[in-house]
Amino acid sequence: MKAMVLSRISSFREYGAPLELVNFPKPVPRESELLIKVSVCGVCHTELDEIEGRTPPTIFPIVLGHQVVGRVEMTGKKVGKFKVGDRVGIAWIHSACGKCKHCIEGNDNLCEKFEATGRDAHGGYAEYTTISQDYAFPIPEIFSDLEAAPLLCAGTIGYRSLRLTSMKDGDTLGLVGFGASAHLVIQMAKYKYPNSKIFAFARSQGERAFALELGAAWAGDIGEVPPEKLNCAIDTTPAWKPIIEALKNLAPGGKLVINAIRKENVDKERLIELDYPTHLWHEKEIKSVANVARQDVSEFLALAAAIPIRPEVQVFRLEDANKALLELKTSKIRGAKVLTI
Ligand SMILES: [Zn+2]
Ligand SMILES: [Zn+2]
Repeated sequence: MKAMVLSRISSFREYGAPLELVNFPKPVPRESELLIKVSVCGVCHTELDEIEGRTPPTIFPIVLGHQVVGRVEMTGKKVGKFKVGDRVGIAWIHSACGKCKHCIEGNDNLCEKFEATGRDAHGGYAEYTTISQDYAFPIPEIFSDLEAAPLLCAGTIGYRSLRLTSMKDGDTLGLVGFGASAHLVIQMAKYKYPNSKIFAFARSQGERAFALELGAAWAGDIGEVPPEKLNCAIDTTPAWKPIIEALKNLAPGGKLVINAIRKENVDKERLIELDYPTHLWHEKEIKSVANVARQDVSEFLALAAAIPIRPEVQVFRLEDANKALLELKTSKIRGAKVLTI
C-alpha cells in the first residue's frame, strides 16, 4: 500500500522533506482489530514534534497521523462493535491498559501503557491502518470525512482543554494561539458558555481576523493586554513567551491550561522573566493537557454534531504531506490541514 513514512528523527531545516512516499506492507487486523481503508487524515502539530524528536516515535519506519477517517474493510474474529463498511475515526489514543487507576477513572490518557496513534503504532498517512474496536469511534453523519478529521485531535484535545479550565458561563476565556485547535474551541465555548467573552491572542493578522470572524470579543497580538482580565486561558502555542503573557493577564484565581505535548526551546530564556507577584500570585493555576481520553473523543464528537461545529479545512494530497507539515511549521494556518488518501 501507499504510505508516507518517517524513517528517522529529522529536521526540516536540514532535510526539508522528512517523510518519504513508499510501498508499505498492508496491515493485517488482529482478533479484536479493524482494518480501515483510510479516506482522509488530518495533519497535526504533534507530527512536527514526532519528526523533530520532541516526542519521538517508538518504531521506525513509522506511518504518522492520528486524525484518521475511513471505512472498515475487514474485522478480526472477535470484533462485535463494528461491521465491514462502517465509517469510523481514529484519534491520538491508540490503546491503554484498561485496568489501572487512570483507565478505570476514565483518564486512560494518563495510563502508563498509553500508546499513541502514529507514534507507537502506525497511523493514517497511508491507504490502510488497523485499530482495536475499543478505540475506533463512529463518526456522526452530519460531518463529511474531511470535516471529521480535525475533530479527532484538534477538536478533541480542545474539548479536554476547555473541560480542564473548569470554566463557568460568564467567565472570560483567553485563547492564546489561534490555529487548528483554537478555531474549534471558540465554537465549543460560544455554545457552552454563551455569556462568556472570548479574547484571542495570535501573532498573525490573518489568525486574529479569523478569531473575530468566529465571534471573539477581541483579538490582539501575543503580548497585548486584553480589555478584561482572563478567568481562564488555553495556550496552544509551541513557545514560552505566550505563557508568560497569559499568566500576566490572568485574573486572581485564574487558570492557564497549556495544550501542548511539548514546547520548543527557541525562546525558553523568556522564563527568566517569570515574576512571582505579577505572574503567579493570587492563586493562579497552571495545568497541562496530556493526550486525550477515549471518553473525550466520544463526548466531543456528540457535542460537535449538536453545535454543529464547522471545521475549516485545507486539503492536501497524501503525497504532499511534507508541504502541509512545512506550512504548519511556518505557521501558515487557517483552520486545519487534511490529507486525502
Ligand atoms: Zn494531534
Ligand atoms: Zn491503564
